[in-house]
Amino acid sequence: MSKLWYPMINQDKCTGCMTCYNKCKKDVFTIKNKKPEVINREGCVEGCHGCGNLCPEHAIVYSGEFKRLIKCSCNDNCN
Ligand code: SF4
Ligand code: SF4
Repeated sequence: MSKLWYPMINQDKCTGCMTCYNKCKKDVFTIKNKKPEVINREGCVEGCHGCGNLCPEHAIVYSGEFKRLIKCSCNDNCN
């Protein structure tokens, strides 16, 4: 099963301040073109909002959270 919880950076909002990179101790990010990039989804801790909470640009959302927000409307109780 693929990992469901990991950060996603909106590169249009990101200023490259490195707050998220410096916060995370799980080697989820690397630096590419002077901005953090997610390279290790598996390292991210389920439910952690550490980097996103500190991002001054609100540029980070989480894949798992996104999934939870979208409610299926097929009326088949599939989620
Ligand atoms: S904390 Fe936000 S603005 Fe700063 S580098 Fe990370 S994603 Fe970009
Ligand atoms: S959510 Fe937590 S574990 Fe995941 S990348 Fe951000 S600080 Fe690291």
